[in-house]
Formats: sequence, structure tokens, C-alpha cells
Amino acid sequence: MGPGPVNADPRVLRAMSAQLVGQYDPSMTAYMNETMELYRGVFKTANEQTVLIDGTSRAGIEAALVSLISPGDRVLVPIFGRFGHLLREIAERAGAEVHVREIEWGTVFTPAQIEQAIRETKPALLAIVHGDTSTTVAQPLDELGDICARHGVLFYTDVTASLAGNTFEADAWGLDAVTAGLQKCLGGPSGSAPATFSPRAALVINARKSIEAGIREAGDAVSAHPIRSNYFDLSMIFDYWGPKRLNHHTEATTMLYGARECARLLVDEGIDTAVERHRLHGAAMLAGVQGLGLAVFGDLEHRMNNVVAVHIPEGVTGDAVRGELLNDFGIEIGTSFGPLHGKVWRIGTMGYNARKDTVLTTLAALEQVLRRAGAGVTGGGGVGAAYEVYQDAARAASVAETGPA
Ligand SMILES: *Cc1c(COP(=O)(O)O)cnc(C)c1O
Repeated sequence: MGPGPVNADPRVLRAMSAQLVGQYDPSMTAYMNETMELYRGVFKTANEQTVLIDGTSRAGIEAALVSLISPGDRVLVPIFGRFGHLLREIAERAGAEVHVREIEWGTVFTPAQIEQAIRETKPALLAIVHGDTSTTVAQPLDELGDICARHGVLFYTDVTASLAGNTFEADAWGLDAVTAGLQKCLGGPSGSAPATFSPRAALVINARKSIEAGIREAGDAVSAHPIRSNYFDLSMIFDYWGPKRLNHHTEATTMLYGARECARLLVDEGIDTAVERHRLHGAAMLAGVQGLGLAVFGDLEHRMNNVVAVHIPEGVTGDAVRGELLNDFGIEIGTSFGPLHGKVWRIGTMGYNARKDTVLTTLAALEQVLRRAGAGVTGGGGVGAAYEVYQDAARAASVAETGPA
């Protein structure tokens, strides 16, 4: 029950135990095409270029940034948590002239602040995290696409922590590049990074197209300024996933099975239903920790559905409580980074673990462990408050079905 990785869905684990097939086996290329289509549904996009990057989420970030940024390009990175710093670091390594804006952890930027920063820095690319698990808040993105379009700026976001647990719409919000990972709300293991790129982003990327010697044919145009990574060269990855099937890396077959099953689970459930499930169990967990008498960190209005940061009570050793939860109850909750280290725990309700039984069990266990640690907690207050959230939701659902009494 930490901020990720969390338990994988058993269906994903089963899918990943299937036998391997060759990378040009018709069933493999059919899986690739099917996976592209499934992730179009998950990202809510019509983008042709919707692929998996082999590697953890940051492989997706690195592929997007190194392929979109030409050395010397100005890039704006608004930072509101640990992963904003990561975007800056990767953009710098890609040779960008990076401009940052920082705000206090636990808060988000207003669209006006972002537009002002765009006016001041005139970037080619805006790179911003959607949900940052380090602070548990989600940056609203819905108004930023229009701003980027007005100023001719490419718009990239990292949705690793938020996708499938919080509303996200790549096309409606005007995103040019989006990358994710499996180990948060998607219910899979880390190791594959689903990603999508708008036609505008694909144009920028393909303007630096490479085709490796040995598979290049007469007449193939090759850029004089290729993307500075071979492994993460999206122009080559697009040709590998596209109809040309030009050889690049050997697709990580087992991760593809896993990523495909994560998306199939979401499409079966309905992506909006999955978001609503995260909202419900996240709300129950929030009410539960508050019902225990614990204080919650961050701007609650912009809280992510799938993770909550809880202040460690005075006199309690954070890691001792985490240790007891793990050893006595088999429940893992998260520590935290940077300015929040030692001050808050992060408790997740995501992916396969966004369920009523996990929420209630975690709250019951936390109460007992905190009591033993000498913290003043409200007896039964956690489970009781969570139950109220579930009862309200059940009542609302039955009213919706049968009409008011
Ligand atoms: C968890 C998380 C990641 C994780 O990156 P990995 O390479 O998979 O470890 C990236 N970005 C955000 C916003 C996250 O919350």
C-alpha cells in the first residue's frame, strides 16, 4: 500500500508466464498492433504513434525528451516535486537550455503562472509532471494545451503515477507527448513504458530520422543531426512498431504481454470506471487516516486519487511504524523524499490494491501499530470513517439505479 510499485494483478502475472515468440512472428506483430490500439484507449488519443518503450517509466521520459529536444532547444520545466527535478535533469542531459520554475511541495501551478513562464522563456517544449507521487498532488493540465498551442510550444507530460487512477485525456487536453509506466495504477510490474506522440511531435522526431547502416536501403534519407541516443531514438522505434517493422531492439516479449494485459484489464473495466474506483478507495483511505486523527499533507483540492501523504505523529518513529506494519501485517506503506523525508508516510490505493479490503485492513493495522507506538489515535475511527465513505457511495449508487425513495 505504498506509492508504487504495488502488487500486480494476477491476470498480468499469468499473461507474463506465456511462452516467448519471435519478434516477427505474426502473432507477435499482431500483439504489438493490438497493444498500440489498447493504449490509445488508455491515453484517450487517436495518435498513430502509441508504443511501448522497453524499460521503466524513466526510459519513457528519456526517450521522449532525448527525441524531442535538439541540443540548444529551450525547455521549460515547472517543478512541484521530485519528478519535476528528474525531468530537468534528463532535459539537461539531452542538451537543452532548461528553464525551471519551482513552487512549494504540496501545491500546483496555475495556468496563468505557466503562461507567464512561457512568455518569459519562449521554450520549444513544456515538460511537466501530471501526478507527482513525491508530494501526492496532481497538476491540472486541461488548460495548458491551449496555452502551448497559442505560443507554439510542444507539450509533454509524465503520467506514470496518475494514469488510470485520475482523469486524463491526451487529445482533449492538447498533449504532444505522454509517457507512463505499469507499476502504479495500471497494476503491472515496472519495466515497460507506454507512450504516445501527437502527429506534431512525430514530425519533430522524424525530422531527425535515423536508419542504421546494415538495414538502410538506397534512397533512405538520414538526418545529419540524429537523435543522440540509439536505444531511445523514437524515429527508429516508430519504424519498428510501424508497418516497416525495421529492426531495432528485440522487443521485450514478456513485458509486452504484461503491458498488453494491463491495458486489457483497464479496457474491460472501462477506463472511467477504473478512475472512479481509485477515487472511491482513495477517498475512503483519506477519510480513514483523518478519522484516526492523523493530519494529511498537501493541497487536498489537487490531491491524486491514488496516494495520500500522512504526517507522522509527534514522538513516533516513522520507519519503526513502517517496519511493524510490514513484519506483523505484511503491509508496506511508503516513506518520502527530500523536504518531506521523515515527516510524512505515503499510503497508496492503486492498481490491483485499490480495493475495499486492502483499505480497511490497512487502516485497522495502522491503528494498532500507532497505538503500540504511543500515538493518540481515535479507536475505530479509521475503519469507521472509511466504512462511511463506502456506505455513502453505495447509497448514491442505489439512488441512481432506482430513483429517490
Ligand atoms: C513512480 C514515478 C516514476 C517512476 O519511474 P521508474 O523509472 O519507473 O522508476 C516516474 N515518474 C513519476 C511521476 C512517478 O510517480
